Amino acid sequence: MKIIVGYGSCGIAAGANKVFDALELGIEEQKLKADLQIAGCNGMCYLEPIVDVIDNDGNKQTYVKVTPERINEILNDVKDTDLKITEEELLERSNQFRIVTEKCGTINPEDINEYIEIGGYKAIEKCIAEMTQEEVIEEMKISGLRGRGGAGFPTWFKWNAALQSKATPKYMVCNADEGDPGAFMDRSVLEGDPHNLIEGMMIGAYAIGAEEGIVYVRAEYPLAIIRLQNAIEQARQKGLLGKNLFNSNFSFDLRIKAGAGAFVCGEETALIASLEGERGMPRLKPPFPAQKGYWDQPTNINNVETFANIPWIILNGGNKYSELGTEKSKGSKVFALTGKVKNGGLVEVPMGMPIKDIIFGLGGGILEDKEFKAVQMGGPSGGCIPSDLIETTVDYESLAKTGAIMGSGGMVVMDETTCMVDMARFFLDFTRNESCGKCIHCRIGTKRMLEILTRITEGDGKDGDIELLEDLAVQIKDGSLCGLGQTAPNPVLSTIRYFREEYERHIYDKK
Ligand code: SF4
Repeated sequence: MKIIVGYGSCGIAAGANKVFDALELGIEEQKLKADLQIAGCNGMCYLEPIVDVIDNDGNKQTYVKVTPERINEILNDVKDTDLKITEEELLERSNQFRIVTEKCGTINPEDINEYIEIGGYKAIEKCIAEMTQEEVIEEMKISGLRGRGGAGFPTWFKWNAALQSKATPKYMVCNADEGDPGAFMDRSVLEGDPHNLIEGMMIGAYAIGAEEGIVYVRAEYPLAIIRLQNAIEQARQKGLLGKNLFNSNFSFDLRIKAGAGAFVCGEETALIASLEGERGMPRLKPPFPAQKGYWDQPTNINNVETFANIPWIILNGGNKYSELGTEKSKGSKVFALTGKVKNGGLVEVPMGMPIKDIIFGLGGGILEDKEFKAVQMGGPSGGCIPSDLIETTVDYESLAKTGAIMGSGGMVVMDETTCMVDMARFFLDFTRNESCGKCIHCRIGTKRMLEILTRITEGDGKDGDIELLEDLAVQIKDGSLCGLGQTAPNPVLSTIRYFREEYERHIYDKK
């Protein structure tokens, strides 16, 4: 018998460590033949702590919201315990297609052998043995994979630009500087399946000709850093990182750089500046990182989710991947469902799924059965989608038409009680705080917008304030160097677009 405790940050926050200790003691006391293990988060954060029991015939029973006091119901396989996951829960979660999160929650992220046993590192082996660099990039082109960090730039195009740059050395960098409020997709992958990221980076490095990789991860993710470091060391010990891998000319190793959590370091050139030991401030482009990046050498940067798709694409083929999704948005996408939704956690769905199916299907609907009001997509760079657009599908093009963006995958759900002006103020306060200060429009403009929003929410709004916000928003977008400033006004603009009457009520209906 195997007993697996969900041991990601969400599980630990809910008490998984105490459950693990209680299970360990119970197994010893009852002299059970059980192999107690840990796994990452399987996406059902709202049901943590979660324990899976797999019997010797491979049958799995999942127990949820487990407490240390009730572990005997698990160890003694009590038939009618309400800790067992219900059929309804399973059904609600079934409408997913897992590529990136396929192994999260099922394998022990601290044991490389579990990853290898299910085909881990076969994709990089296949690339080295059977594919040229150009063929790997062609496979990415066929797959239609676009960067999952927010911009949605075709992965193959970036890789090809880095391959075409002849200067050496080249660098393969992973942007794990996840900073959107409400987003935790990258953290979950790093904690639950770090070898998948390493393998994806290796494939990218092989394709562009890089021998060194760096994972830039925020220091606020201590468990993710520990697990990734452990995974890197285990891969080195197995000869999967280092010189002449798989008896070839390809050598690759990687290291972690813990960032201080500046949101602007999600921008490629700011990330590179930070890697070089400078203050994380965006630089002018061109030159693009593919030509002159880290220490002026060709550098490719993708985010965690993008890399985590790569091994699957190599093993299953770009064509198979492109069967999922819409015409221009291929594959699956991981979303972090948060806010006023019943089943908060991670979901991975095919591109093109209606938002309604995510929130009311996988998410189980709105907390306390209140009315759905809107969902903020794309974090502080994104926009809100109101209830009458809930049939909008999650693909880059459809979301852009609403004024929102895919972003990295944060979905903050709001109910009828949410004040949309407050919500816009919250996100603008975040971006104003995170502005690096290089551009006047971003540095001062967001401050002025925040002052206006504050006075509106405090009942001191003036006639003309909405128009002033719109005017400032245009100037900030036009006058900012990087994506942070260019998108900072988005939450304000989209709430004015869909909820203008709320702004007007704050300004004109003062009692
Ligand atoms: Fe810095 Fe804002 Fe300018 Fe970006 S737009 S470089 S965050 S001041």
